[in-house]
Amino acid sequence: MSRVFNFSPGPAVLPEPVLQQAKEAVWEYGDTGIGMLEMSHRSPAFAEIIETARQRIHRLLQLDDDQDVLFLHGGASTQFFMVPMNLLRGGRATYLDTGTWSAKAIKEANRFGTVDVPFSSAETKYDHVPTQEQIGALPEGTAYVHYTSNNTVAGTEYHYIPETGDAFLVCDASSDILSRPIDGSRYGILYAGAQKNMGPAGVAVVALRKSLLERCDPDLPTMLKYGTHVTKGSLFNTGNTFAIYVVERVAAWIEDLGGLEAVAEMNRAKADLLYGAIDASGFWAGKVHTGSRSLMNVTFTTGDADLDKTFVGAAAAAGFNGLKGHRSVGGLRASIYNAMPFEGVRGLVEYMAEFERTHG
Ligand code: PMP
Repeated sequence: MSRVFNFSPGPAVLPEPVLQQAKEAVWEYGDTGIGMLEMSHRSPAFAEIIETARQRIHRLLQLDDDQDVLFLHGGASTQFFMVPMNLLRGGRATYLDTGTWSAKAIKEANRFGTVDVPFSSAETKYDHVPTQEQIGALPEGTAYVHYTSNNTVAGTEYHYIPETGDAFLVCDASSDILSRPIDGSRYGILYAGAQKNMGPAGVAVVALRKSLLERCDPDLPTMLKYGTHVTKGSLFNTGNTFAIYVVERVAAWIEDLGGLEAVAEMNRAKADLLYGAIDASGFWAGKVHTGSRSLMNVTFTTGDADLDKTFVGAAAAAGFNGLKGHRSVGGLRASIYNAMPFEGVRGLVEYMAEFERTHG
């Protein structure tokens, strides 16, 4: 069977040129005589790969000299506890509750200190993110503010970076990292699992402000201390070499396309096309406030759970895969990350029109 358009939320579609390079690298990387999967994490070839990956991500995220890029195990979910374990330490932090993943981060943070949640959209099924005013003034002594820039399940996204005064900013950017230009220097910690917009599953990218290290708990297990990974260049133990290699190739693909401005323009065009089709029809309906709409995960529904289910199956048979909404919320979701080509979205929109004609 030939490849289909993959609208899966993650692990997700990867750029075809990167997949072709990875395919060759599995057999032999460059002229090393060995494949990527067989290569020592201490080899000169891998040292160059991880360093190049670090530099490319540093550049793309517009980080400054005080910020390092780490490649860690345990996914974004490990960052849910690693952040407060290292940096909350019985103190106080603000968390914004905009979705399933924010709620999980809050649950973990509660183990390590006082967590203020000035905003939650849980009662309206996480259908919007807060404005700056809704975040409000932070309590005295707030160490940091944590938010989820894109909510993969609900399909909402912040279209601004929250102002947090003296508190440093922490962001789970798992599902919109590298989707648009970002002033990464505004963050204390910016983290993301790679498996949506950056590469395969199995590595989390963490941009960390090094001056925060002196505030980290020194008595943690070695692997759970940020300091360990900064000092050892993310190679204290065996990293996920293959995933890091693919992340490096994806970052190179982005830079070759013209960087994040170019990528953002493509993402905007895809999202406009899909939301436009949803808005223009009386058959499909979006699920979130228009001002909070995600450019990465477009959630929608026919309003009828059975019909949604029929659509998922029929669309898959027509070559559009992965359109089922998250099991916790139902409905439909098209994840249109960087590597989803415009033709994929155009094809989906045409198929949606056909489905509406036959089922509307
Ligand atoms: N945060 C967000 C926004 C996510 O979408 C996900 C995964 N779907 C996670 C965190 C959890 O990531 P991981 O599986 O890498 O732990």
